[in-house]
Amino acid sequence: MKSFSTHSSHIPTEYEFKHSKWIKKMLRAYWVVVITHFVVQIGCFLFLDYDRTPEDFMIHVLFWPTASSIASILIASWIDRRFSSFSFYAMSAASTVVAWTIIHVNYDIRIIQAISLLPIFTSVLFFSKKRVWIACLMQTTGYVLVLFDSGYRSYLTSFDMVSIPAFLIVGTYVAQVIVTSGVEVLDDLKDSMLAKQELIVRNAIMTKQSKTDGLTNLYNQSSFKDYYDKAYEYAKSGMSLHLALIDIDDFKSINDTYGHRVGDTILEKVSLVIQENITSSDIAARYGGEEFALLMFEQSFEQAYALVEQIRQKIALMGHLELEGEPITVSVGLKSFSARLTKEKLFEEVDACLYAAKRTGKNKTVTSLDLVQV
Ligand code: GH3
Ligand code: MG
Ligand code: MG
Repeated sequence: MKSFSTHSSHIPTEYEFKHSKWIKKMLRAYWVVVITHFVVQIGCFLFLDYDRTPEDFMIHVLFWPTASSIASILIASWIDRRFSSFSFYAMSAASTVVAWTIIHVNYDIRIIQAISLLPIFTSVLFFSKKRVWIACLMQTTGYVLVLFDSGYRSYLTSFDMVSIPAFLIVGTYVAQVIVTSGVEVLDDLKDSMLAKQELIVRNAIMTKQSKTDGLTNLYNQSSFKDYYDKAYEYAKSGMSLHLALIDIDDFKSINDTYGHRVGDTILEKVSLVIQENITSSDIAARYGGEEFALLMFEQSFEQAYALVEQIRQKIALMGHLELEGEPITVSVGLKSFSARLTKEKLFEEVDACLYAAKRTGKNKTVTSLDLVQV
């Protein structure tokens, strides 16, 4: 796993952030270990039968071990701040110094050797076999270095000489097994998270597909009906609502003359004009074959009228290569919500307006049956 580096443009991942947090926590824990060791040593010197002179105790048990441990933690903290890609190695080295200093000072306590396992098990947190090996190597180095001290060496039996490295190897092996299973669990978790994300995306696509029309990308009739029902309820509580039906004029003859594919292209073009001219709060749908429905909110009747007229005029002004440069036209029926009309009645009246527009010459917008000369 890559470590978090402040010196590159690389944006740290969540894992890397966690790693850098763990390293800081570990370094804080080493402070606690060093201070506790310091206090315990003073306690032992004062209250237990200690076979050292006060001077020897001050220099060799308190001062040097504490100073070297503190120095290693300070250096590791500095490296962690300045060169964060080396944080793990610095932290491991500091833990090795702290562990082997304590082992060296207390070599008469046999169980103290177990402290050398702590840096190895700490490295497990990073889920990297390489890091576990590095921690093991550092402990082995610590062991070799303290062997230079004849006092320590004289205390070890030949069985200890062999069993300490064996102890480290077994510890490392166990740590590696934990890392391997941890990595497997992590991989499984990642796989299942990916599968879940894929499912969410697929569901979103399917929901969109079920709501929209494949050819024009506008809402289909059934989702339009849902929106219309909701819009009608909102309108009853005072929100403005206008409903328009837009129908392509003489579309059948386009199909008959130029073929169904050309008809489809014209449908796409008309829907594009509608989409480009409505506002983001309006809802456009392909209601039937060559009929479109439009719900308009947040505007006055005059604004809604101007909007559908703009759509109608733009369509009428477009020449189509597919139709040998000829334009097409649409007819529109438009009405606003009124408390006296049920939602079915409003739709019927808009449809009647559209029908009136067709009967009275097409390519026009009709808003009231009273206004048209039939
Ligand atoms: P009017 O001006 O009165 O609306 O006449 P019109 O020819 O547009 O209306 P009519 O209802 O007679 O014909 C509509 C045609 O639209 C018939 C149908 O084949 C065609 N149509 C419906 N859906 C599609 C489609 O998805 N693609 C194509 N190319 N044609 C379609
Ligand atoms: Mg038509
Ligand atoms: Mg029609």
